[in-house]
This record gives sequence, structure tokens and C-alpha cells, in this order.
Amino acid sequence: MGTIASARKRLEPRTPSTLSRLVARPLLALLTLVVAGCGALERHPVREQAVPIQSVDLERPAGPGTWRQLVALKEAPAQCAAALNGSALRVQALPDRRNGSFCGYSNVVQILRSTVPYSGPVHLTCPMAAALYLWERDIAGPAAMRHLGSRLVRIDHMGTYSCRRIGGGTSGRPSEHAAANAIDISGFRLEDGRRVSVLRDWSSGGAAERAFLRDIRRGACEIFQVVLGPDYNAAHRDHFHFDLGRYRLCR
Ligand SMILES: [Zn+2]
Repeated sequence: MGTIASARKRLEPRTPSTLSRLVARPLLALLTLVVAGCGALERHPVREQAVPIQSVDLERPAGPGTWRQLVALKEAPAQCAAALNGSALRVQALPDRRNGSFCGYSNVVQILRSTVPYSGPVHLTCPMAAALYLWERDIAGPAAMRHLGSRLVRIDHMGTYSCRRIGGGTSGRPSEHAAANAIDISGFRLEDGRRVSVLRDWSSGGAAERAFLRDIRRGACEIFQVVLGPDYNAAHRDHFHFDLGRYRLCR
């Protein structure tokens, strides 16, 4: 009999009092949780978010979490400019640029002097310039000495700003290059005259050249948000792509 009674109860139309019981109690509980949560937030202000941005000192060695700090600088142009000014890197600010429907940039600098000269002009967003500086100083330079026993005297690159979409097609997401937020590195020149090329030496180089290239690609993952090389796909067989875009990818 209990079954019929409970079945009837389930079929009964919900009266206002039933409804208020069903809705009001969970609402009240939710409200209590929200109020308690707000109290907790007030007691612990958002101090944690401010720390990574304010503490960027480019003269300190890069570490495994450096890329997070550099990504945070994208939202803090003043702090980024201060970080560059406080470093040995010399840059010149470039005027903002708009080019077509999806290309252009703001907060971009030209690198005038860094720890290693480049094969051509380097125009990058402020956080990318900071990242490149850390990578050449703390990753590429020391790796050249360690694996090849010679000082790095030039870095060859294939471009920074370029108005294009990912994969080079006419549809799809704009490349980070379209906002000067990426650089393609293709090779290295050493003080003793040797040259190391990503295309030639990634697979066919000597043991030292191959170890050097793998070391600097792995180290780049501590500093950049996205690192792509010959292991990623054929389009990257001749260069490393570094950017500070929206997604974390290290291949
Ligand atoms: Zn690229």
C-alpha cells in the first residue's frame, strides 16, 4: 500500500508550498555558500595574482615557471616596459600598426642590442622581446658553450611579424606572427666559425650539434608559451617557432 501512496504523492500537482520548499531550501543553502565565499575572498585579497607580474626581474635567471610570468606581462604593458628598462636589453618602441582585418600590433619593440646579435631586424611584442632575451642568455648561450665549446655570436631568424593565418591558408585562426607575438629561429653561428642549422643538424648533425638543438628547444619551453620544432611537423623542419600565444604547447 505504501507504494500506491508514494506513487500518488509523486503524481500530485506541486502546490506553491511544495514548490517553495523545493526551490527555497537549495537557494538558501547556495546563498549561504556564496556569502561565506565572499567573506573568504575578503579575508584573502587577490594578492596571488599580482605577484607574478610585479616580480618580473629580467636580470634574474629564468626557471621552469618563467613562461607564466611572461604570459602575465601581456596584460600589463607598463610592467613589461619597466622590466625591459631594468634589463641589459636595449629596445626602441614602435608605433602601433593595423593591417587588414586581422593583422597588426601594439606594445611592440625593436631589439637594438641584446646578448647575441640577430641576422635581421627583430620586431616583437614587449613580453616576447623579454622572453627572447632570457632564452638567448640563459638557454642558448650556455648550451653553445656546454655542447659546442664556443660562444654564440649570431642567431639566424626567418621572421617575426607576418600577416598570415596558421598553416598559411585563407581561413582559420590568425598566426601569432600576425601580432608580432612569435619568432622563427633557423640557425646559429659560433665564434669559432661553425654554423648550426635546424634543417641540417636536427637529424643529420653530429652528436654535439643534435644535443645542442634539443637542449635549446627543451629549455625554450620554460620561457615561451608555445615551442614547435622539427618533431612537431614538416612545416617546422627548418626552424623553431616560439610564441606567447593563448595555448600551451611544447613539441
Ligand atoms: Zn612561426
